[in-house]
Amino acid sequence: MTLSDDEIERYARHIVMPQVGGVGQRKLKAADVAIIGAGGIGSAVVPALAGAGVGKLTIVDGDVVELANLHRQPLFREDDVGKPKAELAAEFVRRLNRFVEVSPRAERIDNQNAEQLLAGHSLVIDGSDNFATRLAVSDASVALGLPLVSAAAIQFQGQVAHFRSKPCYRCFVGDAFDTDDCDNCSELGVLGALTATIGSFAALLAINSIVGLSEDPSGQLHLFDGEKLSWREIRIPADPACKACGSA
Ligand SMILES: [Zn+2]
Repeated sequence: MTLSDDEIERYARHIVMPQVGGVGQRKLKAADVAIIGAGGIGSAVVPALAGAGVGKLTIVDGDVVELANLHRQPLFREDDVGKPKAELAAEFVRRLNRFVEVSPRAERIDNQNAEQLLAGHSLVIDGSDNFATRLAVSDASVALGLPLVSAAAIQFQGQVAHFRSKPCYRCFVGDAFDTDDCDNCSELGVLGALTATIGSFAALLAINSIVGLSEDPSGQLHLFDGEKLSWREIRIPADPACKACGSA
């Protein structure tokens, strides 16, 4: 995997940092990331990863743009209302960076198709808006051995974590939410700037993982309080009885 002169110029502010360098930039180019959800989280993740030069992106979202999305989803504009998010997000990527190969998948991911959709990627970022989807994505990531960055935001609260096999997202939330969309933000609300903050942090965790910037970031949950404006970290213990990653 080599970088052309155009790419070296484009990513100069990455490459000049010794922690990234040409080696890290080539790792980003070699990465193949699946982004689940082109909503509030995805609106921060998609530009960050496309701009960073992640070589391949798959964007999975079965929804169309609604007017009530626009306060937190700057990938879309007023005249996009009613159009499919996955295709619009892919078009954003194509216009931003011709060195990124992007595949839109305008479908809903669930436990029937998750493994098939995620197979072959090198990392998954989940910014979907309900527990059932997040668990399906997590279980498939565990089964395929893929690192997963899982991010969620509601009202003023955000959480983001990097998982690698064990512990997994299911260890964190348990089995109770398999079929329940109880965190739907249409009922509870969400601050637009919060999803951008959490989505940007998710992109940072993904880049950290791909480049290998710090020690293994997995198993650490980052919680953000958008009212108090504070972050805290919690280590997630592996559940030995976990249906997805447990040894039981
Ligand atoms: Zn688990």
